[in-house]
Amino acid sequence: MTVIEHIDQAKETLVSFEVLPPLKGKSINSIYDHLDPLMEFKPSWINVTYHRSESMFKKKADGTFEKVEVRKRPGTVGICAAIMNHYKIDAVPHFICGGFTKRETEDALIDLNFLDVDNVLVLRGDAAKNESSFEPEPGGHTYAIDLLKQVVNLNNGVYMDEDIRNGGKTKFCIGVAGYPEKHFEAPNLEIDLRMLKEKVDAGACYIMTQMFFDNQKFYDFVAACRKIDINVPIIPGLKPITSKKQLSVLPRIFHVDIPTDLSVEIMKCKSDEDVEKVGTEWLLQQSRELKQFGVPVLHYYTLGKPKIIWNVVKELV
Ligand SMILES: Cc1cc2nc3c(=O)[nH]c(=O)nc-3n(C[C@H](O)[C@H](O)[C@H](O)COP(=O)(O)OP(=O)(O)OC[C@H]3O[C@@H](n4cnc5c(N)ncnc54)[C@H](O)[C@@H]3O)c2cc1C
Repeated sequence: MTVIEHIDQAKETLVSFEVLPPLKGKSINSIYDHLDPLMEFKPSWINVTYHRSESMFKKKADGTFEKVEVRKRPGTVGICAAIMNHYKIDAVPHFICGGFTKRETEDALIDLNFLDVDNVLVLRGDAAKNESSFEPEPGGHTYAIDLLKQVVNLNNGVYMDEDIRNGGKTKFCIGVAGYPEKHFEAPNLEIDLRMLKEKVDAGACYIMTQMFFDNQKFYDFVAACRKIDINVPIIPGLKPITSKKQLSVLPRIFHVDIPTDLSVEIMKCKSDEDVEKVGTEWLLQQSRELKQFGVPVLHYYTLGKPKIIWNVVKELV
């Protein structure tokens, strides 16, 4: 089923979870161990992130260095198929522009279609670790909207190879990212929202947001979207704070603010265990209020902390 079908058929707020592919060499069982306890909450789908390769310098036997491309977390498409097969639920692969040519993307989308994956969340991806700003792959896409248009083309049976006539039509339900606190590269929120509207007008069926810790920012974002006729479902992305370090790491990496009340409580904590308690309570409160606000889905970034998410969702059902 597509994300939109899930939302349309829902009688109450749905839940969904996001997992990262295991590090290369690790077993798929680490995903199952992570998800098994969360299955009790009957998530509507599981998102699986996509990770670009990174350039690394490896020392050779003669003492010189060789530049190699390493993908530390491969396997998004395979993991989606495995999750669908193992749990009999839907999986939503993330697809990114960075590090992929359009032809590679087309082939991966064909794989997804063969595997009966109905959904894809299209994203630009961040800059490679060794680059200061995002550089598209030669023959790749610059913005998420370009990737989105490629998926829309496939949904219309239009393939890159012009010789393909009457190509099979895919039926991907396409989601895109939105940023209640603005994408960090956008000159301002209004311009960022215009870019978001372009993605929706080009065929995105729903928006999934960046994490946020102040629900008011989400409510304002939803209101601003509705004001410019972005009328698709907006799914809040939620994450618990679990360590003191995150007070500076999350704003630096994800460009989100941490509210004063929460920051003060975390600063008072003596251990990360205490932080987890504060983070869990905050996330629970956020979830309760968002549910009351009427969000269609509560989407949790589990990021190696399934127990915390379990503790939160348990209180909601
Ligand atoms: C829910 C969610 C899931 C994510 N999952 C992953 C993942 O699995 N893997 C991963 O690598 N990253 C992931 N990311 C991170 C994401 O790739 C980065 O935030 C990235 O910097 C932007 O991606 P985007 O799809 O929002 O880009 P875009 O929509 O392309 O926007 C990027 C910037 O360009 C601007 N812009 C957009 N279109 C245009 C245009 N036509 N002209 C000029 N400016 C434009 C926007 O305002 C914005 O500032 C995720 C983010 C979110 C919110």
